[in-house]
Amino acid sequence: MKRNYIPRFVLNYTVYAFLFMGAAVLVGRAAFTGGLSGDGAALTAGVPESPPPQIVIDPGHGGEDGGATVGDTLEKDLNLQIAGCLNDMYTLFGIRSEMTRTEDVMLYDRFDDLEDYRGKKKSYDLRSRLRLAEESGAALYVGVHMNKFPQESSKGLQVYYSPNTDESARAAQITQSYAKKYLDPANERETKQATSAIYILKRIRIPAVLVECGFLSNAEERALLETPEYRLKVAAVLFASTGEYLQVQEKGR
Ligand SMILES: [Zn+2]
Repeated sequence: MKRNYIPRFVLNYTVYAFLFMGAAVLVGRAAFTGGLSGDGAALTAGVPESPPPQIVIDPGHGGEDGGATVGDTLEKDLNLQIAGCLNDMYTLFGIRSEMTRTEDVMLYDRFDDLEDYRGKKKSYDLRSRLRLAEESGAALYVGVHMNKFPQESSKGLQVYYSPNTDESARAAQITQSYAKKYLDPANERETKQATSAIYILKRIRIPAVLVECGFLSNAEERALLETPEYRLKVAAVLFASTGEYLQVQEKGR
């Protein structure tokens, strides 16, 4: 199947450094003895075959819903590319992961009992993602998005977390601190608890974070996000931080 993100072989030295950082976090830890996640196929409705994924990755938007748009840059594409890289990294390190979508589509028609979606595509799309995530039985949901703000100076990766579980705040904290340490030391953003404006995080019952990877409205950050190297760096940061989260959770058991 054609994948829409960067081939594995474009890894440059910088990105290798990030991968090794992730490897340093993960290698040798007994928490990750699960098998490979297979072909990275999108989640389908219904109960997944056991064992459940450890992580469910949700690339925001898709299809008719482009998400934040600036010029030719569409949020939905960047989300999918970063999510795909992230999924590959999990697979490489034996962490079971699934994606809600692997193609440029909305997900409003995934469930038979939601057939009449005319005029409700966006809300059914979000409801489907929520259901896919919860029915996956994953230990963590990671939503991948891009930000856009009228004030062009706003920039920096920002992590939101679900108000429904303490683990969500913990996972967000780790990711936000990794972003500061490895992506941009000048990023002073702090994690934010999701309000009802973030449909999935507000309702989801499994631990969940949503990562706004950067601001498309900031020319400098948009230029970075348009390069495969920077997207791989972002994916590596998400990989290492969520891996750290899983490891901490495993230890606490
Ligand atoms: Zn978005």
